[in-house]
Formats: sequence, C-alpha cells, structure tokens
Amino acid sequence: MQSLWNDTEAATFGTDLLGQRVYTSRLLGRNPALVLHGGGNTSVKVTERDFFGDSVNLCYVKGSGWDLGTIEREGFSPVRLDALIKMSKLATMSDEDMVLQQRAAMTNPNAPAASIEAILHAILPFRFVDHSHANAIAALTCNADGEARVKEVFGSRVIIVPYFMPGFILAKTIADLIVGRDLRAEGIQGMVLLKHGLFTFDDDARKSYELHIEMVTQAEEYLATRSAGFQPSEATISEDLLSLAKLRQAVSKHRGFPQITRLNASPEAVGYASLPNVATFGTRGPLTPDHSIRTKRAPAFISDDIDASVQAFANDYQAYFDRNASGQTKLDTAPRFALWPNHGIVSFGDTLKDANIVADIAESTAATVALGEAVGGWEPLPESDIFAIEYWDLEQAKLRKGPARKVHQGKIAIVTGCAAGIGFAIAESLAEQGAQVVGLDIDKDIPDIMKKIGGIGIVVNLTEDQPVQDAIDFTVRQFGGIDIVVSNAGIFPKNDYLDAMAQTDWDRTIMINLTSHQKLMNKVIPFVKAGIDASIIFVGSRNFKAPGPGASAYSCSKAALTQLCRVAALELAPNKIRVNIVHPDAVFDTKLWTPEALQKSATRYGMTVEEYKTKNLMKVEIKSKDIGNMVSAMASPLFSKVTGAQIPVDGGNDRVI
Ligand code: ZN
Repeated sequence: MQSLWNDTEAATFGTDLLGQRVYTSRLLGRNPALVLHGGGNTSVKVTERDFFGDSVNLCYVKGSGWDLGTIEREGFSPVRLDALIKMSKLATMSDEDMVLQQRAAMTNPNAPAASIEAILHAILPFRFVDHSHANAIAALTCNADGEARVKEVFGSRVIIVPYFMPGFILAKTIADLIVGRDLRAEGIQGMVLLKHGLFTFDDDARKSYELHIEMVTQAEEYLATRSAGFQPSEATISEDLLSLAKLRQAVSKHRGFPQITRLNASPEAVGYASLPNVATFGTRGPLTPDHSIRTKRAPAFISDDIDASVQAFANDYQAYFDRNASGQTKLDTAPRFALWPNHGIVSFGDTLKDANIVADIAESTAATVALGEAVGGWEPLPESDIFAIEYWDLEQAKLRKGPARKVHQGKIAIVTGCAAGIGFAIAESLAEQGAQVVGLDIDKDIPDIMKKIGGIGIVVNLTEDQPVQDAIDFTVRQFGGIDIVVSNAGIFPKNDYLDAMAQTDWDRTIMINLTSHQKLMNKVIPFVKAGIDASIIFVGSRNFKAPGPGASAYSCSKAALTQLCRVAALELAPNKIRVNIVHPDAVFDTKLWTPEALQKSATRYGMTVEEYKTKNLMKVEIKSKDIGNMVSAMASPLFSKVTGAQIPVDGGNDRVI
C-alpha cells in the first residue's frame, strides 16, 4: 500500500492542525482497502480560544454522518478534551449518557455528533489519531491465532486489544491498558484491535497517516507470503437474467419493499461465489462488526431453488435473532447480499445508493474472507458480538435518519419515447417519486436527456427486435428487474384524407404506434411477471373515442393500442399485473406545437391561443406534467386494484363523456 501524501495537495488544506487533519483523513478515506462508507474515524487535539477568549483544549473528532473520503472542517466535532478524559475515568456510563455528555462538551452545539469512539481518541496522548477497519487487519486477526500473528508482524510497536464493543467499554479497557505508561518511551506507535481494526498515532499528521499505511502494508506482506499457492476459483460465468429478477422478487418480498439489485459478475466475484465450501466460510461473519449494520451478519447462499434459498436465509436469521435477542425488535429477515455460484455476488438496497454501498462492502468482504480462509481459516467475531452491534441502538439510529420513503422507491421503470413532451414528463414524474428510470428513444440525445433526471437513456429503434431485447436485458442486468413499463412511443403523421394518403405513412404509423408496443410487450412481460407490484401503462389518445377527419392512421393505431391494453389486462390479471391506458388530449407544451402552429390552429377555430389551449369542458390547460403525474399515480399503490381502465386526462370532452 502506497502513501498518497503530496506536499502540494496538503498545502491546499491549510497549514493549521485541523486543515492537516482534514487532508490525511481524506487520504485514508480514498483507499477502500482501509475505509468504506462511513467506516473509520480520526481526530486531532488542539488548543483554541473559546467565545470568551479563554484558552481551551479540544479534541476534534470525526462527526457521525461524515465519510472520511469527503470530510470537511465542519465534519469534525470540537469536544472539550478534559470532559472526555473525565468520562474515561467513570466506572460505568450508558451509551445514551455518553452521547449526551459528548454533545454537552462540544464548543459548537451545531457541529455533528462526535464519533462513539471519541473518548478513546481523547485518552491517547498524541496529537493525531488515525483509525481504520483495514481489510488486511481483518484478514490477519480474524483467526484463532490472531494475537500471535499480530505479535509476529508488529512486535512491540503496537498494543494488542482483545475485542470489546466500541464506545465506552472499549475506551475504558484501553484507558486501563495504558494508565501510568509512557507510550513514547516504549516506542508504541499504534494499537491493533483484534477483529476490529487499527489505530496509529503521532504528533505529526503525515507521520500518523504514514504509520497506518506502513503497518497495513506489513500485514499485507505477511498475508501474501502465507497465501502463496492460494488460487481463486476460475468458475464459468453464466448469465440468467430471469432468475436474477426472481431472486430480487424473493428478497423484496422478505424485505417488504422493492429492492434495487446490483449483480457483480466480475471474474473475481463469480470465482469467490463458486469456491468450494464458500457456503460455509463465506457466511461465518463480516470483516468488522459495523458492516453488519449494512450487510447483516452474513450473506445468503443461493442454490438452484431461489425461493427456498431466500427462505432458508430468513429462517436462519430468525433463529439467530431468537438466540441473541433480549427485548429488541426484530429487523426484516431479507438478506442484504447473496453469493450465487457461477453467477456472482448480488447486493440489495432500498435505493441505488444503498445497493451500491452494500456491493462495495460485499466486494471487499469477498476478497478478505477468501484471503483469511486461505491463510489459516476465517474466524470472525462470534455472532453474539455481531448481534450486539447490529441491534445497538446508536447504530440503528444512523439508519433511521434516512429520508422518508418515496412512492416508487426501489422500483425499476422503462419508459419509451421519452426524449421530450409527455414521455419525458412521465419519466420525470416516476424519477421524482424514487423510481430508477431507463428511457428508450430513437433520439440520439436520450442518454443526456435522461441524465438530467438521474436516469439512463438508451438509443433504440423500437421497431427493431434485438435492440429492444438488449435494452430490456441491460435494465435487468443493471438494477435486477422491471416493475413499471410505460409504453408511450408514438408519432402523429400529417393529416391526409384516406384517398390522398401515402401507403408508407399508414404503414409507418401502425408500425410505431401499435406494432412496436406489441413487440415490447412480447419481450418485457416475462420480466414484469417477476416484478414487484408490477404495472404496465399505455399512452393512448382522446382521438380513439373522438376521431377527426384526416387522422385515420393515428386514430386507428391508438384504437388498436387500446384494444392491446385490454387484452394484456385480461392476460396478466392472474399474475396480479395491472394494465391501464391514459388518454391525453390537447397537450400543447410539446415539440410538435410551435407558437406558429398554435396560432394557426387557434385562428382556424376563430379563437385566441389562450381559448384554443383551454377548449375543453373545464376550460383548463392540459400540460405534459399532468400526464406524467397521472401515469406515476397509475403505477402507484393508489391504483393497486385497477386494471383494464382507460383514464382520460383532457379537462372533459363532450364527445367522450
Ligand atoms: Zn472502529
């Protein structure tokens, strides 16, 4: 492992102690083998003037909710050093009191809550303290011989600390270990917390950080010599997207919410998931106890019977809870990641961000557990210690802080013809309500257009079979399934009477407005059947019930599309998939309607543009966003018992009513 220290870069963070602390914290956070997603913590001790001008000794400790990799000055909580040291001298202290007293001792009450390891940072008599949950330290110490190995690698440079729950008890244990000692004279440069992580310390920011890198490198080198000959499995990678969607469906059912699902099918991930005995050693426990908050104690192991595998995980989790619980409320019994031989490692989350965090931890876990097993047997903490962290109220609080759940959170939607107008408004409404949206359009700008709403755009000619299949497969590969399909793509050909119409205009309209929808259904329905509270919505037109002269191709295609919707509703009702159609009318905020075209049409009716735009019974203007919001509602639980319905969004039309 290399030190990432760079003098020029360091200078941009300021030369004061807190500036240096921010810089080296980021260096630690930049390396995923040291720190992942909120893991690890750092501190610096400084003397400052308080509001009244009095000198005060502070310990700036990483605040909770901040990641080391992106931390800023305001991510550190200024806590009075004497208060923290006083706390370490108490015989006992509850977690709640510790959190409260740490906050009471802050000179800025608006700063984030200090890390639960603040007392531990305070009692170490060095200016800078760096703490990580390095993979190499886990592989070294999650073993029956962990302590002996640490002695062999680090000699007397480090204090070895047996596992204790982080917080007051750990700080107290370490206070007892160092009381009356002169760590500098003894040449102590760090502490290895067995099955937890590494601390290094020094009065110089760079030295403390580089000690960390040096010690982790030493551990890596030790492991490398012991694991020579270890060969990761070279399994054949097979892809089965329908089974992936079924796995997501089973996990979502146990979780109670649709889950964004990330498949890691890299050779490393498939190799690990296919190792002999991985079902045994791969499910013993996490690298470091705080991962259990995100990943639970262990992954699920997926055999050929997907539902039975997920159920087996749920049964095991229930038994684990029953063995360890003492009054806690049980969390859901769904796995957060799964090992799937020949397919890879699959991670689940309420949002893409959550699923990606789990995927990062799972990847790190796979590499480290494989190494730990190869160098003498992976032996993580006993389950009672993991349970104590997984159900620790202070940790649960971190998860509860998330924002309220959106209607379509965790759902995956495909919208066709969404580069502009009604289609874009639909994609936008679904995304606003939390759906992961993939937009299909022939417009080459669709990737950039969808990026604006956090979605993915794919350039597809919907009348061609293979590109449509590829786009559907891509969506499932990316997110694990498909729950919402909005079949919207359509054209409005020029208004020719039947005796003047070019045959190509008719054929093209039927192909795009009708046949392309049928082709999409043919390919997407197998996945929708494995969706969560799945829903298909077609975008029709008022024209179907109130046709106009010169619009035969358009009216007929929309009428047939409505019939396609009705048949699909009949066919899919047994699968609890609802199929409905929305009939918009007179939506003028689209590309088709230039100000000149609007003026021309208004003049033809002898109206002002304003009158023309609102020529419906309710005299209201219909906007693309009205259709978008209606479609989003139709995909929501509001319409959970509605299928085969035709919903007009037209302000009321006397020819239709
Ligand atoms: Zn820790």
